Amino acid sequence: MRLSKLFGKTQREIPAEADTISHQLLLKAGMIRQLTAGVYSYLPLAWRVLKKIESIIREEMDKAGGQELMLPALQPLELWQESGRDVAFGQGLFTLVDRRNRKLALGPTHEEVITKLVSSNVQSYRDLPLLLYQIQTKFRDEPRPRAGLIRVREFDMMDLYSFDTDEEGLNQSYNKMLQAYRNIYTRCSLPTLQVEADSGTIGGKDSHEFMLITESGEDEIIHCPKCQYAANADKAQSIKHKIEGGEPLPLAEVSTPGMATIEEVSSFLKVPQSRTLKAVFYVADGKLIFVVIRGDLEVNEVKLKNALGGTELRLATEAEVIAAGIVPGAASPIGISGTKVMADDSITTGTNFIAGANKPNTHLRNVNYPRDFRVDLVTDIARARAGDGCPKCEGELSSTHGIEVGHTFKLGTFISQKLGARFIDQSGLSQPIVMGCYGIGLGRLLAAAIEQSHDDKGIIWPLAIAPYHIYLCPLYRENSQVAATAEKLYTELEAQNLEVLFDDRQESPGVKFNDADLLGIPVRVTISPRTLERNSVEIKWRSEKEAELVPLEGAATRLRELITKREN
Ligand SMILES: [Zn+2]
Repeated sequence: MRLSKLFGKTQREIPAEADTISHQLLLKAGMIRQLTAGVYSYLPLAWRVLKKIESIIREEMDKAGGQELMLPALQPLELWQESGRDVAFGQGLFTLVDRRNRKLALGPTHEEVITKLVSSNVQSYRDLPLLLYQIQTKFRDEPRPRAGLIRVREFDMMDLYSFDTDEEGLNQSYNKMLQAYRNIYTRCSLPTLQVEADSGTIGGKDSHEFMLITESGEDEIIHCPKCQYAANADKAQSIKHKIEGGEPLPLAEVSTPGMATIEEVSSFLKVPQSRTLKAVFYVADGKLIFVVIRGDLEVNEVKLKNALGGTELRLATEAEVIAAGIVPGAASPIGISGTKVMADDSITTGTNFIAGANKPNTHLRNVNYPRDFRVDLVTDIARARAGDGCPKCEGELSSTHGIEVGHTFKLGTFISQKLGARFIDQSGLSQPIVMGCYGIGLGRLLAAAIEQSHDDKGIIWPLAIAPYHIYLCPLYRENSQVAATAEKLYTELEAQNLEVLFDDRQESPGVKFNDADLLGIPVRVTISPRTLERNSVEIKWRSEKEAELVPLEGAATRLRELITKREN
């Protein structure tokens, strides 16, 4: 490809809202352009990268036994109502109405469509297992599209669905997919961490995410350096340290004038926050929920939502709290009635806590559970944090950030039950099909590769997904020998099946080298009057500092060898 003809220009200025490296570099390199919030055009260079990622994914899915098919993006909304996930997805689901007034959804994922399709094609256990996948555009109405290709509203995704007769079969399919995913990341030179995840709106049981560890990542990961336990902070368990509080003492009121927050109360009474109980109010499916948690901990809303089994959860307003007869700032679980109380199990880690008295400017000392109050449920609803104990060993947890670049779920029979996808087992009984689902967003993988591999000059593409192998860079093309040699080498390199971006522009060496570094093509091949004096061309890998001269004679063959060596 001649750079002078390439659609898409490199840019010096980038919009201020581009706050992640991959977003900035993709814009600067002229590889993507935003059409509207969270919706991007891929220009030719970015599209070549996407196609390479796609073919690596396709090869690994085929190797694992996957069969590729294609499902419609336009789906009847009734199908989503049938599974109940129209509510779970809520406003994330793009919906529209056709000319016959039928409601449709633009697929954010395809469990419903494929389950219907499979149920009409599978009768017996002999038809299973199945691994079916597609690579297709998805639509999700994200509340806050951000970070360029990382959080978008329209994106290409590989989604595979597994169908088995039982849990054991599901485990086998699941493990096959975990291995295929690891192969994909290895081939894309993306080191990932496999972490336990919440299954969120997709539903189901076990779930894992593959995380690229980077400080710019929007997901917090809690992990144990000692035993390799790793989980998304939405899901992570931890051992909460015991708080020494002594033998339970009688309840006593204490005046706390103007003190409303845990910080204010604990510093006023000179007790650590871990010796207080905090009240947090939510509204779940229209009902007020009183949450009690140790003062030094935060509520994990994902865990709370799962514990409540509801679909909608938000913080309550002060007016809603007051309407329930509760005094904000001095709310107390003691004597509460008519409101559901959920407690984090941290309330059992100590004695003689400080809690609200449900009277203005008043708190209570020596609050003990279960002596002084009742709750509807005690469970783990706290956010795990660095420094907590590991749930799997005696180690101490750490925290880091990452970008999710793949997600796998054991769905079980959650969707097949609802949509009536069944088969006849070996003893002639009708059983629901046991399912799993597995997704990788292609554009996000592309962005993650840049987050992982770049420097202050630009992108450093891993060879396997680079838009081109070689950046052919003749300097001083007005020199007829340089121009002629470059044209000849361009032809020879392409004859070696190498993908070449030929910088045939009349630009200064500085501009050409800057663009070469920005675009991040793995090998830069420079031809100049100086290299020709020595009958050579200069080869420089984008990932390395030093350049080397190789003889002009046989340069194309030599480059083919060098690249093949690094590909394997
Ligand atoms: Zn551990």
